[in-house]
Amino acid sequence: MFFPARSATLLDKPLAPRHAGCMAFESETSSPLDSLWQEYGRAFRDWDDLTLARWLAQTLGQLEGKVWRLSHPLVGAYRLAAQLGHERAIWFKRLATPPAAYAESPCCRAPFLPLLTRDVREAGLICQHCNETLVPFAEIPAPLREALEAWGQRYESVHAVAHWDDRQRRRAGNYDAAYEAAAQQAETLLARAGNELAPKLLNFYPAAVWEDQDECLDVRPEDVSL
Ligand SMILES: [Zn+2]
Repeated sequence: MFFPARSATLLDKPLAPRHAGCMAFESETSSPLDSLWQEYGRAFRDWDDLTLARWLAQTLGQLEGKVWRLSHPLVGAYRLAAQLGHERAIWFKRLATPPAAYAESPCCRAPFLPLLTRDVREAGLICQHCNETLVPFAEIPAPLREALEAWGQRYESVHAVAHWDDRQRRRAGNYDAAYEAAAQQAETLLARAGNELAPKLLNFYPAAVWEDQDECLDVRPEDVSL
């Protein structure tokens, strides 16, 4: 169970968390952005296991105690290295010791580093090493789960506008205006995730990453100001 068959291809989508409701956006052929991230990832492939393990462990020390945008360059670099480390089963080899604050993940035994996405109610918090569910929604500590529940529900209804069918679009009248309004609401909700919700994760976890974009509503990280 620790090595899902698709782990070898995790680097294909290093920056794209899986969003179940948006499967139409995941094609078999990789996008130009995916190819670019694969190219970035090649820098880490030249590193031997020990170098990779030490870099990961040291960088976890730098990540500790803060919340991070998914778009942050340090997080991007960490994710590339972490997913390669997962392919190579770095954490099983115990080549380097992560900072003590990081518990072992139940999914892949890597250090515990959760990602908060808009799919939190369905997918829980996501592991930055293996891309699987790190904490199922039902197992998120209660006070945090309640805050995430309300936010996630609100976000789902806003996000759904991007996936309205023709009938729903016609009913809205001016779909462009509805889409733009949804994008602006998404920006506000994502800012709340960064300002309020992700910091609450620090009450339970040593560091946390939050997704600061919405590709379906064309909300980019620079649109989400804190
Ligand atoms: Zn994992």
